[in-house]
Amino acid sequence: MDAEQLREQAHIMVDFIADYYKTIETFPVLSQVQPGYLGKLLPDSAPTYPESLQHVLNDVQEKILPGVTHWQSPNYFAYFPANSSIAGFLGEMLSAALNIVGFSWITSPAATELETIVLDWLAKALLLPHHFFSTGQGGGVIQGTASEAVLVVLLAARDKILRTVGRSALPKLVTYGSDQTHSSLQKACQIGGLDPELCRLLKTDSSTNFALSPDVLSEAISNDIANGLIPFFLCANVGTTSSTAVDPLPALAKVTRTNNIWFHVDAAYAGSACICPEYRHFIDGVEEADSFNMNAHKWFLTNFDCSLLWVKERSALIQSLSTNPEFLKNKASEGNMVIDYKDWQIPLGRRFRCVFQTFPLDINRYTCLSLKLWMVLRLYGLEGLQTHIKNHIAMAAYFEELVVQDTRFKVVAPRTFSLVCFRLLPPPNSEDNGNKLNHDLLDLVNSTGSVFITHTALSGEYVLRFVVGAPLTEVRHVKAAWQILQEKATALLESL
Ligand code: PLP
Repeated sequence: MDAEQLREQAHIMVDFIADYYKTIETFPVLSQVQPGYLGKLLPDSAPTYPESLQHVLNDVQEKILPGVTHWQSPNYFAYFPANSSIAGFLGEMLSAALNIVGFSWITSPAATELETIVLDWLAKALLLPHHFFSTGQGGGVIQGTASEAVLVVLLAARDKILRTVGRSALPKLVTYGSDQTHSSLQKACQIGGLDPELCRLLKTDSSTNFALSPDVLSEAISNDIANGLIPFFLCANVGTTSSTAVDPLPALAKVTRTNNIWFHVDAAYAGSACICPEYRHFIDGVEEADSFNMNAHKWFLTNFDCSLLWVKERSALIQSLSTNPEFLKNKASEGNMVIDYKDWQIPLGRRFRCVFQTFPLDINRYTCLSLKLWMVLRLYGLEGLQTHIKNHIAMAAYFEELVVQDTRFKVVAPRTFSLVCFRLLPPPNSEDNGNKLNHDLLDLVNSTGSVFITHTALSGEYVLRFVVGAPLTEVRHVKAAWQILQEKATALLESL
């Protein structure tokens, strides 16, 4: 790499990116292109000769950006957020610059040790129990995604129980979650060679605000044991994808303890909120968990990807995932002096993701530096991150209030964090139960390109989801989004 060429071209790229952020509100939030659009715009083979960066950037502007759905737009209220920030961005830049592949300590001591330190910092900020710290029997590790996190702990739990009951018992192993648990649990079971029929997604409903009932879990476990099966894993939720339901961790923990079941807590989205003292109680009971996961890349100002996993017993993960080929042997690893994170994850190679942000920030001016997560923590500081979360929750509460004031709409699940689940009520005597109406409303709203929201199903009802979580969102964006929803609802109702 020519350093001067890098300096020159990186300046051009940074200008391009800064201009993108400056003008982000001018793009339709949800890309309005049709499938296959790009094939019509690009040549059908790679260029033979090098082209200029400016030429490529012109194509990005004209051909790529129209096909981008703008997750960083302040008018993005869909799915869950994927926060970008200056600290996260600069961390990514530094990570790309160093471009290390830190699978063993020796391949980059700083990457390994920084990861351990930062995960301990965060364990402290979340008031996690001592066994999740590197100084206890467990520790934290950065995975790519929550899906990888649940997969690796499921494999550890599977192998742990099979060491006791024998490998031939694999077809008898039963996994539990609720019907609100993210589909990554089912995928983990598929990859883990478990019987998909024995991945029990236990029913929830509005009577428990879509949280898993410990009685329902207990009963399912008793039935399975009576049928000669072996319960071994529960994935509990703090902040489900559909409605941010929170399962009762302490009561579920009792059931898992009695039945010797691995207890995993998936707080992929809501875990970030638990660094705020007023929201920490949502993970009460985590002391009993075998593993705990949150995605820093969702709501923690850390650019994708960065999913944080803590385990109570690191030896369980390592027993499942370690390999020790000759070509990786080295003195530090052989001497058991260091962590080799290759043994805590699926791939061998891994990025230097830990660069993260902590500095006391003015929440509207994300000016910060460093390796992603570390950079985020240093440049924003825990206080800055708490402000970020609280702002979003306050804006969601404001949106909820707007919905409540319009009697044509109904809030359909309690708002716990920054997600509001709501729907437009069908007119009296309508043949539609409201599902088509809300589906049409969503299409109308998103086709404006001014706002992007998504939907889910709760108890068979088509429900709209409005999540405040983009770092650039301000109250005026929430107001504008609500105005569009109201206007489109009026037009739709008048057209019936
Ligand atoms: N768990 C929950 C509660 C989620 O909401 C999601 C995604 O939104 C996931 C797991 C999967 O996350 P990932 O994309 O990091 O695998």
